[in-house]
Amino acid sequence: MVLENLKESLRGTIQKIASAVTVDSKLIKEVVRDIQRALLQADVNVKLVLELSKNIEKRALQEKPPAGMSAREHVIRIVYDELVKILGTGKTLPLKKQIILMVGLYGQGKTTTCGKLARYFKRKGLRPALIAGDVHRPAAYDQLKQIAEKAEVPFYGDKNAKDAVEVVKKGVDHFKRSADVIIVDTAGRHKLEEDLINEIRDIEREIKADEKILVIDATIGQQARDQAKAFHDAVGITGIILTKMDGTAKGGGALSAAAEVGAPIVFIGTGEHLSDLESFDPKGFVSRLLGMGDIRALLEKAEEAMKEKEAEKAIERIVSGKFTLKDMYQQIEMMKGMGPLQKLSELLPFGFSGKVKDVDMEETQRKLRKFKYIMDSMTEEELENPEIIKGSRIRRIARGAGVESKDVKELLKYYHMTKSMMKGFASNRKLRKSLMKQLKFT
Ligand code: GDP
Repeated sequence: MVLENLKESLRGTIQKIASAVTVDSKLIKEVVRDIQRALLQADVNVKLVLELSKNIEKRALQEKPPAGMSAREHVIRIVYDELVKILGTGKTLPLKKQIILMVGLYGQGKTTTCGKLARYFKRKGLRPALIAGDVHRPAAYDQLKQIAEKAEVPFYGDKNAKDAVEVVKKGVDHFKRSADVIIVDTAGRHKLEEDLINEIRDIEREIKADEKILVIDATIGQQARDQAKAFHDAVGITGIILTKMDGTAKGGGALSAAAEVGAPIVFIGTGEHLSDLESFDPKGFVSRLLGMGDIRALLEKAEEAMKEKEAEKAIERIVSGKFTLKDMYQQIEMMKGMGPLQKLSELLPFGFSGKVKDVDMEETQRKLRKFKYIMDSMTEEELENPEIIKGSRIRRIARGAGVESKDVKELLKYYHMTKSMMKGFASNRKLRKSLMKQLKFT
């Protein structure tokens, strides 16, 4: 498990807040002290910890809880906000044709991570390929080749090559047509030295990589900052992957320190298997750390106050015809929690009328699940603008979701039906009210 100790202490603190009789400055001071201790133990930089504590204390004492939110919930919310803030913005790699140059020092997990990335893109329906750009260590060639076999992706390398730029260039030419995402493994060194910098720059100049991803071993804790900064200054990285988050108590330090450098964290590695790669989203990460699942109810209440406004906005979007696949995804998510199947069926334009039989419901559930897989294979752009999903995009999405093109087309058809139905709902006052109610907005 990732950051087990930190998780335990933070959850203890949240518990303390949740069960406090009164929220006063004494409690807040205690909470801040707990959090400081927990973060320092996770190797988070002292300066950062002090800054974060100051913010929590100040906000918890000065800010008034929004309407409908208790003081306790408010303090939890502030802790959450401030923790999210120190982790940067995170970043998702686009699902498109691209060249990714992987850089980093020896033993950081770079080669393994190349394989993890290849697997990730393959599962998203793209065609990844790996290139062995480390000509200094013959073992590196064998290792990447093995990893490519494991991930079942094509591999290019030349064991006898002496010139990294040459071999990488050949590899990129080789995969020009047959691959979408070309991942280039490069040599590591014990330190970031001039010859390594030059080699990365030379390769980069030759292949014009879209992404330069730095791989750092999280067990070094807050030292990740110096490493990330040195690489960033020397070759300008576009993202960071922190590996070995599973085996260290210092992961919090590594994450916050890497985030400070300004290059977003893209993934974290959580084990030796190719599947042990997690997208890094600071909000989701902190939610899990704090056990937000458990306190979600608390936070949901806090959001209720804003909900009415949001509902209006959502309805406006629908009325103006801006119902996107993203909205539909949320809708499906929401419906899952709705309970009574009858109610659910009322909302689905599957052509049900009258009574719903169990078998229909099962079929519907199965379909919705499939739709979710399909939408998971889409890019943000596709979710926002479903009209661009045609031809080759349909095939890519189908491949990523492990379904057939006709399933993607069915989803699009369902989307259009839902969209026009929502429009019908929303432009009618009475129906609009009932829609809001059904969607649990009110
Ligand atoms: P490279 O020298 O940077 O290419 O590093 P390698 O890919 O050879 O990895 C070095 C070691 O770290 C190997 O034993 C990997 O199995 C291990 N490793 C890589 N990523 C992770 C991770 O996320 N978690 C764990 N526990 N081990 C990892």
